Amino acid sequence: IPKRNPKPKWLRVKLPTGKKYTELRGLVDKYDLHTICTSGSCPNMGECWTEGTATFMILGNTCTRSCGFCGVKTGRPDTVDWDEPEKVARSIKIMDIKHAVITSVDRDDLKDMGSIIWAETVKAIRRMNPDTTLETLIPDFQGVNRNIDRIVAVNPEVVSHNMETVKRLTREVRIQAKYERSLEVLRYLKDQGIQRTKSGIMLGLGEQEDEVLQTMTDLREVGLDIVTIGQYLQPSKRHLPVKEFITPEQFKKYETIGLEMGFRHVESGPLVRSSYKAQKHLT
Ligand code: SF4
Ligand code: SF4
Repeated sequence: IPKRNPKPKWLRVKLPTGKKYTELRGLVDKYDLHTICTSGSCPNMGECWTEGTATFMILGNTCTRSCGFCGVKTGRPDTVDWDEPEKVARSIKIMDIKHAVITSVDRDDLKDMGSIIWAETVKAIRRMNPDTTLETLIPDFQGVNRNIDRIVAVNPEVVSHNMETVKRLTREVRIQAKYERSLEVLRYLKDQGIQRTKSGIMLGLGEQEDEVLQTMTDLREVGLDIVTIGQYLQPSKRHLPVKEFITPEQFKKYETIGLEMGFRHVESGPLVRSSYKAQKHLT
């Protein structure tokens, strides 16, 4: 059995610091606010929070799917909390967030797949925080346009849906998803007039360079504006192993090629997460 690879030096990060970080950390603890930044112990908290960006997860913390890379627990999800839109909106107000990223677990158990709560959350945030801009990082809603239309109707500044990996590895990495279906969701969003569409992939799961470039080409083909490319890290021993640590130089290469391909923004680097520096993508 191969030993777990030790992390290369470019993945070692300093603990987040700074006045804004300390202040927000205090509020999160005091009001028991739920951000992915804290629950996932994201290494970018210092940076993102200083810039007024945070990520919130809705529709509970139990997912109906079981992607091999994801640390969220799988099982029967909680009942829908109809007060959740207000609670999230209030958290954003308390934290004085300028740009919020909203994401959710997948709710294949619900008839609307959670799309109604999604839309209500955006509306509540807009009501309480009229100056806050939004990115909605949505599930595939099983490709059902009726659900996606609810997101389109509330018109978030950025709508993202992650491919997570290249075509060949999709089955292994996110068993209940389909590569083509995710591409179609992104195409549909663009066709419906969403201004900025965005997607993310993780590297180090055994993909080859030409497969990464093919995924980027496929994403451009559906009119995608923004792509994020980061290193996969194993949340626990039960998750897919890291096959490779991609060098910063290789990430830089993808960034250069991506910009040549015509993406409006390419965030490519070892510590890039799909919501990293998200407010930059409004330009
Ligand atoms: Fe939060 Fe995303 Fe920034 Fe991490 S990258 S701190 S999860 S907003
Ligand atoms: Fe995690 Fe999303 Fe997959 Fe659910 S659908 S297991 S939250 S990546």
